Amino acid sequence: MRLLLVEDDRMIGDSLRQALKLEGHAVDWVYDAAAAQASLASERFDLVLLDLGLPEQAGGAARPAAGLAVLQALRGRGDATPVIVLTARDALPDRVAGLDAGADDYLVKPFELDELLARMRSVMRRFGGRASPVLEHAGVRLDPATREVTQDGATVLLSAREFAVLEALMQRPGAVLSRAQLEDRLYGWGEAVESNAVSVYVHQLRKKLGAEFIQSMRGVGYFLVRKP
Ligand code: CA
Repeated sequence: MRLLLVEDDRMIGDSLRQALKLEGHAVDWVYDAAAAQASLASERFDLVLLDLGLPEQAGGAARPAAGLAVLQALRGRGDATPVIVLTARDALPDRVAGLDAGADDYLVKPFELDELLARMRSVMRRFGGRASPVLEHAGVRLDPATREVTQDGATVLLSAREFAVLEALMQRPGAVLSRAQLEDRLYGWGEAVESNAVSVYVHQLRKKLGAEFIQSMRGVGYFLVRKP
């Protein structure tokens, strides 16, 4: 997934970004409310992790109202991108205000990475309107919770990035995803995009799942054939 992380604490932000990247997500990280507003106005994200106690601008003092204003502006323009707010301990009024302003869930700092990942999956399931968290297509089964992939019952071992490409395709079977859309799922800002990375991951996936599983449309992108 492509994530926007809004967090002014450099240590927390850095460790979260590293951990989420290892899970195969593309993470864009900003430190203040103004940068968050600008990112959300110009880019599309699958999910936003929003610390509420933020400075308005770089160098300012952090206050919960700044994070809340980011959320209110997003919802105010009808943008339903899932948002999980991160709040300090003892900040019950902030959590309530966050949920009232349209947050999909919240986490109290400090939290375990596993809990964050579970809540991200749960929010994405609700957002996608899928009753079952498991994706299935033509004998291939992908479980976002356990990150397990099987084909006709046999386990298929994938790297984090192969998994990210496959998950993107399986979320929208039949839809053609462009190279740029798939790169968005693999890389955050400031990360060098290897020029043929998507082709390499698709090649690896075809070796593991069969040449026919992922189809290409020359010059357009990749897709899974929708079975009748
Ligand atoms: Ca903060």
